[in-house]
Amino acid sequence: MLVPAASSVRAVSLAAALCALVLTASLSPSAPAQAQSTPPGRVGSSLPSLGDGSDMGLSEERRLGDSIARSIYRDPDYLDDAVLVDYLDLLWQPLLVAARKRGELSPELDERLAWELMLSNTKQVNAFALPGGYLGVELGLVAVTETPEELASVLAHEFSHVAQRHIARMLSRQSQQAPWILGAMILGALAASASSNVDVANAAIMGGQAMAVQNQLNFSRDMEREADRVGFSVLTDAGFDGHGFVSMFDKLQQVSRLNDDGSYPYLRSHPLSTERMADMRARLPAGAASAPVGPRKSAVAASEAAAVHAYASARARVLSEKAPERWRVWWQAGQAPQATPAERYAGALSALRLGERQSALALARSLRAQGDPQAQWVLDALWLEVVARAKAAGTPVADADWLPVRDAALSSDRRALVLSAAEAALTGGAPALVSARLSGWVVQHPRDAGAWQLLARAQQAQGRRLHAIRAEAEARAAQLDYPGAIERLKTAQALPANERTDGMELAIVDARLRALDTLQREEMKESARKQ
Ligand SMILES: [Zn+2]
Repeated sequence: MLVPAASSVRAVSLAAALCALVLTASLSPSAPAQAQSTPPGRVGSSLPSLGDGSDMGLSEERRLGDSIARSIYRDPDYLDDAVLVDYLDLLWQPLLVAARKRGELSPELDERLAWELMLSNTKQVNAFALPGGYLGVELGLVAVTETPEELASVLAHEFSHVAQRHIARMLSRQSQQAPWILGAMILGALAASASSNVDVANAAIMGGQAMAVQNQLNFSRDMEREADRVGFSVLTDAGFDGHGFVSMFDKLQQVSRLNDDGSYPYLRSHPLSTERMADMRARLPAGAASAPVGPRKSAVAASEAAAVHAYASARARVLSEKAPERWRVWWQAGQAPQATPAERYAGALSALRLGERQSALALARSLRAQGDPQAQWVLDALWLEVVARAKAAGTPVADADWLPVRDAALSSDRRALVLSAAEAALTGGAPALVSARLSGWVVQHPRDAGAWQLLARAQQAQGRRLHAIRAEAEARAAQLDYPGAIERLKTAQALPANERTDGMELAIVDARLRALDTLQREEMKESARKQ
C-alpha cells in the first residue's frame, strides 16, 4: 500500500524513523521460510513472551491493528460512504462465508480479529491488509475495476494475507522486536498527542504514520503465492468467476507497461511476475475461455453485485475526484441521450458537486424511473441524497416525489437506504422520525459510528441534549476514541438538572462511562507494560 501524498508529506519525521526501523530489521539475515510450517492462528511460539503466554500472537496483532485503525478513523481521507460500504459488503461477506466453510477462517480467527473494511478517499489503485483483520480499500481501486470479480479477487487475496497470519509471521521473522516496537511507537505517539491535546491535523499525521508502517510490510514471494492460491479458492467458492483474478492481473500489467506514475501503489507492493500470472491461469479449467469457474452457490449476491458494480465504480470515480473540470465532463456526458445508466449516475453526482441541483434531480429521477430491481437500492439512495442536498440549499421538491421513498427506505434494513433516508428526513424537518428509526438501528449495530452521528443530530434538533451528547459519545467509542467518548459522557453528567430528567438515559450514561473508563485504563496499562 502507499501513503496518500498529503499525509506522507505531513508525516515525514516519525514515518521516516519507522521506515528506517523496518528497513534495518529486514536487512538482517532472513530466517528460513516458515510459510508452510506455522499453523494458522498460532504464532505465539515465534514472538517474544509478553506475559501470560496464552496465544499472545492474536491478541497482540489485534491490539496493534486497533491502534492503527483508531488513527485511520481520524484521517481526513477515511470515508464512511454508506453506498460504497454496502457494495463492498456484497463482495466481502460471501468471501468470509466461503472461507469459513473451507476452514481458511477458523472460529478463533473469526472471533478475535476485526474483519473490517476501511475505505480511503483517494484515487490510488490500492488495497492493503493491516494487522488485526483490518483491510484498507482506496477508492481508486473501486473506480478502476470493471467487474465485481476483479474487485473481489483483490479482497480475497488481501483476506488471505490476514487469514494466513502473514503480517504476524513477517513481523516476527523480520525482527523479534518489530511488533513490539511498532505497536509501542504508534501507541506512544498517540498518547503524546492526547496528552498535549493537539488538533485534528496532528491526529491525521498519526494515520499517515500508521500507513507508512504498513508501506514497509512487503510480503515475501512465498506469501504472495499462498495468498493467490487461497484467495483464488475462496473467491470461486464464494460464487465469483475465477477469471476475475486473471483479468485483474492483466489489467495491472497493462497499466504497469503504460505508466509508473505512482497511482498504482498496489503494483509496487504486489510486483507482477510471469510466474504468478501463469499460476493463476493454470487454475482456470482447461478450455474455459469465459465460462464461470467454481460453484455458483452465492449466485444471488454475485448477480446483485454485477448489477451494482458500474454504479459503485462511477461513484468511487466522482467522490475521489477533486477537479471541477472532470465533474463538468461527467455531468455533460450524463445528460447525453445515449448515456448509460452508470454515466447518468456519475452525471447526477457530478451535478451535485457543481451545485447544479435541478439537473441532479432530473438525472436521479430518470434513473429511478427506469427500474433495475437488483440495483434499485443504489438509485433510491441516490435520489434521497440528491433530495437532501437540494432541500438543504432551499430548492423545493414536491412531497409526493420523495416522502414515499423516504418512508420505504427508513423501514428497510439496508444501511445505505436507512442512512440516506435519515439524512433526507433531517433536512426535511422530521428529526423525530430519524430518532425513532436510528434508536432501533444502533441497538442492532452498536458500532455504527455514522448512524450514531446522525442520531446525535436528530436528538439535538429535538432539543434532547442528554441523548444527543450520549449519541456523540457512542460515535467516538465506535471508532475506538475512548478519551473522546469519556469526555462527552462526563459533559452529559454535568448538564443542568432540567436537562437530566430522563432517568433511564442517565443510568445508561453512568454505566457506559464506567465501561469505557475500564477499557481506557486497560489500554493505558497495556501500553505502559510495553515501554
Ligand atoms: Zn499480496
